[in-house]
Amino acid sequence: MGAPSTLRFVGLDIGGSFLKGAIVNPSGKVEGRLHEKVEKDSLEALLAQLERAVRTLAGPSGARAVGVGIPGIVEQQSARVFVAPNVPALNGYALGDDFSKRVGMPIFADNDANAAALAEAWLGAGRGSGRQIFVSLGTGIGAGIILDGHIWSGTSGYAGEIGHIQVDPKGLACGCGSRGCVETIAGIPGWIRRTQAALETRESSLRGQELEPKTIVAAAQAGDAVALEIVDESADALGVGIGAALNLLNLDRVVLGGGVAAAGEFLLLRIAEAVRKRTFAQVYADSAFKLAELSGDAGVVGAARVAIIGLSR
Ligand SMILES: [Zn+2]
Repeated sequence: MGAPSTLRFVGLDIGGSFLKGAIVNPSGKVEGRLHEKVEKDSLEALLAQLERAVRTLAGPSGARAVGVGIPGIVEQQSARVFVAPNVPALNGYALGDDFSKRVGMPIFADNDANAAALAEAWLGAGRGSGRQIFVSLGTGIGAGIILDGHIWSGTSGYAGEIGHIQVDPKGLACGCGSRGCVETIAGIPGWIRRTQAALETRESSLRGQELEPKTIVAAAQAGDAVALEIVDESADALGVGIGAALNLLNLDRVVLGGGVAAAGEFLLLRIAEAVRKRTFAQVYADSAFKLAELSGDAGVVGAARVAIIGLSR
């Protein structure tokens, strides 16, 4: 009885807006998915939703364990969420304790960028590299660092906060309490804010278009001067952050993921060039730049991977 259940894992990716889930086999194949608005008004509402999601995904044959990706800082031993700014109901809650009993399965959790890094390293653009950084480009900018095949979370889970490396000491105040962080420039709100400011005084093909990194990169590619400036400012800020990581850690792979990475190869090349200007020639030569390959599945497959790794510890 129940043998198949031991072979599948539930991956949940809790976002600020959506809950995504998948049931994943040991090779990483997704056998079922779930995508719904996250119910985050209270801890109880969220836990009830997570429990329903686990039961739906596991189905009658069950699952071996649950992995959860969290948009925040997570202590791995107890799967305790230190702080999740966009899902504050989880602050301080240890998923590995009560919730594990509630669903009757072991629960493992990690930061969402770490989970995506593990997914790309397992099945995507990070395959074959044991020393890499996955950089998630979205509203916020986070990273998962893999050293000698293992995620490096740091002393208390804060490792990888590449978006909060300072680019401009006199720059905009950042949510983290500092100012001029990479994220204030290269996060999506930064792209839009600078484009809107430029459009007040300059002509551009972007006027009247929906402003988002993808359209701005496309305009830059078509030769629009304003768009090219915005792209290069973002690429430069990322060059400071990623360049610092490479000079510090001498990694062999940089994987760019998250919604902004969908802007594609043009942006990737500008970022790589911005990194080249700031790193030792050998450090740059050692590192291959790649776009993430798993797109929408990285979060849930990575969460399942967190569970697989957690069980093996
Ligand atoms: Zn910051």
